[in-house]
Amino acid sequence: MTLYPKMIMDALATVRYPGTGKNIVEAGMVEDDLRISGLHVSFSLIFDKPTDPFLKSIIKASEAAIHAYVGKEVEVEIKTKTLQAPRPEVGKLLPGVKNIIAVSSGKGGVGKSTIAANLAVALAKLGYKVGLLDTDIFGPSMPKMFRVEDAHPYAERIEGRDLIVPIESYGIKMLSIGFFVNPDQATLWRGAMACNALKQLIGDAYWGDLDYFILDTPPGTSDIHLTLVQTLPITGAVIVSTPQKVALADARKGINMYQNEKVNVPILGLVENMAWFTPAELPDHKYYLFGKEGVKHLSEEMHVPLLGQIPIVQSICENGDKGTPEALNDDSLMGRAFMDFAPMPVLHLYGFCPSCGRGNRPSECRTGSNSYCRSEKIIIRFISSPIGCKAVKD
Ligand code: ADP
Repeated sequence: MTLYPKMIMDALATVRYPGTGKNIVEAGMVEDDLRISGLHVSFSLIFDKPTDPFLKSIIKASEAAIHAYVGKEVEVEIKTKTLQAPRPEVGKLLPGVKNIIAVSSGKGGVGKSTIAANLAVALAKLGYKVGLLDTDIFGPSMPKMFRVEDAHPYAERIEGRDLIVPIESYGIKMLSIGFFVNPDQATLWRGAMACNALKQLIGDAYWGDLDYFILDTPPGTSDIHLTLVQTLPITGAVIVSTPQKVALADARKGINMYQNEKVNVPILGLVENMAWFTPAELPDHKYYLFGKEGVKHLSEEMHVPLLGQIPIVQSICENGDKGTPEALNDDSLMGRAFMDFAPMPVLHLYGFCPSCGRGNRPSECRTGSNSYCRSEKIIIRFISSPIGCKAVKD
């Protein structure tokens, strides 16, 4: 049997692309690279995206059409091409992001999102480029906390790919699973569906260059956490808890999850939220509503730093609801406290201050990066020196 290109094209013209009413030849999906050598036929099919849901079925149908209309003995080789550049491999995702910090908690309602939002705002105020991804599928609260509930992120063609452009609020690039899911249905999003949506928000969004990428994770330990640690090289985790015993038990599980040898994400430190309450009329009193210093004790027991203790303050709650995170407010005591708190995870990442000598864990060389000394209130720069990485005042 002698094969001719027309025989192959006629067979392919019987394959329809679902939903368009057009066959794959009409739709321009057959690349102009058809080669015939004896009974061997090769050509490429062009798809819009590498994730085209019909990719496999169209390949199968094309092969079947050639066998049915041309001959069973024809050997078919089909390659695929996509118009959109493929998503970068895991590990090469977010090449412009220097540090990824996961903010986690064992339990819901302990103030994890509040801490994540204020951490992001305070770091942005210190001059860092900050991104924030709200992955809390069970209660995405960042759109409300940043007063962008009505925002609809759109996609733009950037570097050959359609990428979701994060919303900008208070100088922070932000995306939330809450922008894409009806809040009433969010809890129905489980397993693979939620994990895939999350991968898109990471790999198919235009995050660009960031000093800090903050992840507000769901409470507890879940598939979402595993997806995050498998998808991204997380620099470290901040665990938020109240001092209450039931919250501490879950915080401990969170620490263990990150420290598990398969996950191996360093714990940057713990935050004790709702540590005490001081009524305005009794400014010298501290009421330990959820118990005293439970998180502090946990940090000592598990040998992880305590990054801060944050009291229960009405304005933290009100400003969260208003969409103006407390750290924006330079005039409030708590606003300034968040500014003091924000550099703590950073300090723990980068080591000690050359001026006061405080700080922990001088770790691997971070040449060229900045850090902040809380007690000296100075920016520290790390430079290379003959003896390795050296910290200097900026
Ligand atoms: P999570 O993310 O752990 O579920 P949220 O950050 O949403 O918790 O906080 C739960 C509620 O507690 C919110 O209404 C928030 O405004 C409030 N809240 C959090 N931290 C404080 C605090 N230190 N003082 C007063 N209210 C707080």
